Amino acid sequence: MENIYVLTDAVESRPTRNTLELLGLGHRLAQAAGLKLRAWLPGPARGQAATAVLAAGADEAVILDEPRLDTYQPELWLQALTATASAPAAVILPADSTGRDLAPRLAYRLQSQLFTDAVEVSWSDGAVVAKRPVYGGKAIMTARVAGPVVLTVRAHTASPLAEPKTGGEILREAVQIDEAVVHTRLVEHVEEKTEGVRLEDARVIVSGGRGLGGAEGFAELQKLAAILHAGIGASRGAVDLGWAPPSWQIGQTGKIVSPDLYLAIGISGASQHMAGVASAKTIVAINTDPEAPIFSYARLGVVADYKKVLPHLITALAAALKQ
Ligand SMILES: Cc1cc2nc3c(=O)[nH]c(=O)nc-3n(C[C@H](O)[C@H](O)[C@H](O)COP(=O)(O)OP(=O)(O)OC[C@H]3O[C@@H](n4cnc5c(N)ncnc54)[C@H](O)[C@@H]3O)c2cc1C
Repeated sequence: MENIYVLTDAVESRPTRNTLELLGLGHRLAQAAGLKLRAWLPGPARGQAATAVLAAGADEAVILDEPRLDTYQPELWLQALTATASAPAAVILPADSTGRDLAPRLAYRLQSQLFTDAVEVSWSDGAVVAKRPVYGGKAIMTARVAGPVVLTVRAHTASPLAEPKTGGEILREAVQIDEAVVHTRLVEHVEEKTEGVRLEDARVIVSGGRGLGGAEGFAELQKLAAILHAGIGASRGAVDLGWAPPSWQIGQTGKIVSPDLYLAIGISGASQHMAGVASAKTIVAINTDPEAPIFSYARLGVVADYKKVLPHLITALAAALKQ
């Protein structure tokens, strides 16, 4: 019998939000296809989350029982996933740096198709049907993929199960690592320090561009972000000028985000920027130029100097959210 696989992540015994979303999606696909959902938990440390992973939708939680898998290293993970993928109909990975790194290599090893950056995945007539934004979010492409497929799925585009699932089985697979094919060595692991909300997890993002006129503009944005419990993003224009750190950059060569609300302030809306926000639910823009491309993506827009609008917006939102 074929299986659907989800690659999971967890902090101690708690699956991450993204993992809960992918397991919810995997469960719905498995139900529709009449297949089993198997969840990979790489390394014994993630294994602590096995019970929660079953409750989140998996039929089987497969702990890859090799301590070296606790830390991500592509050559080791590839070996473990390839060795334990039994008749995969679909393999679901997060569309984060790990998923993007692994997906093409895993697809090659499993001799399967590859579909990246999906924002919607369903099962129809024995095949996976997946959608993703193209041309910087101007269009959505739909692909029907027959045969095994490795998918990366963007955060916030699938919902976790509304009610915990009961039952399921926890399996431990001993993984043999072939050192001869390990060509890289992990020298250091540096956690990115984030003040406030992580962009990838943020439901609301306040983002600034060259129109802010300087780093001091981002200080104003931070006031707004604090009120909205929002993450702070930036265009490459602003990052290149040194007004914001590279970790804030959103777009084709920055982060791909999927917030419910994206506030674009002093950002023109170049296609390379919009490629990073194509799955944002609502975009609101403040820009002095009524012809700026950002207004063709925005649901609400203010044509004005942000310096005049922002103080009023901060005062009004602070008052409204206090009530
Ligand atoms: C290969 C490649 C990859 C790229 N990757 C990315 C990427 O990942 N992310 C990214 O962002 N860009 C990326 N870019 C760059 C992209 O093409 C744009 O140059 C960049 O997004 C522009 O940044 P911006 O909108 O801040 O600046 P601008 O295009 O200069 O726009 C500034 C906007 O601010 C408005 N404005 C000016 N003053 C005010 C004011 N006082 N109040 C309100 N509005 C004001 C202006 O009307 C204008 O619309 C990439 C480019 C290439 C070629």
